[in-house]
Amino acid sequence: MSAPAIDLVDQIWPGLMGADAAGAYLVGGRCASCGAVSLGLRDVCARCWSSGGMEAVPIGRTGRLYSATLVHQVPEGFDAPFLAGYVDLPEGLRAFAHIGLGAARPAIGGDVVLQVAPIRKGKDGRMLSGPLYVAAGATSSGPQPEGDAP
Ligand SMILES: [Zn+2]
Repeated sequence: MSAPAIDLVDQIWPGLMGADAAGAYLVGGRCASCGAVSLGLRDVCARCWSSGGMEAVPIGRTGRLYSATLVHQVPEGFDAPFLAGYVDLPEGLRAFAHIGLGAARPAIGGDVVLQVAPIRKGKDGRMLSGPLYVAAGATSSGPQPEGDAP
């Protein structure tokens, strides 16, 4: 059984996400000098300040919801409301991302898994994809609720 195809063409933040046979991931950078991991590939390690030695590594496939808030007043291109929150990643980072609603809404402290989902409408009207953490085991995707009244 193969993983479903993941569309990474129209990303909100190009280069932030990747996908392989195991599914979606965030692109992290591991320092060759001290092993510290960051979100994204950075020029300089935030722990040891060495430069030029970051290796791309997949991170953030799973996590635990630390906190979340429902956003009603949203920027242009987003549908209201959406849930945004902090997810503690097993790599030791805390990521801020969209969180699933409806059946995909995790409890605070609950396990979450990363999906690529349509997050925002671009200037040309096409939907742009980005990271969305949903409750582990949830089958629905997308940042919008399905009959969910928060
Ligand atoms: Zn380092």
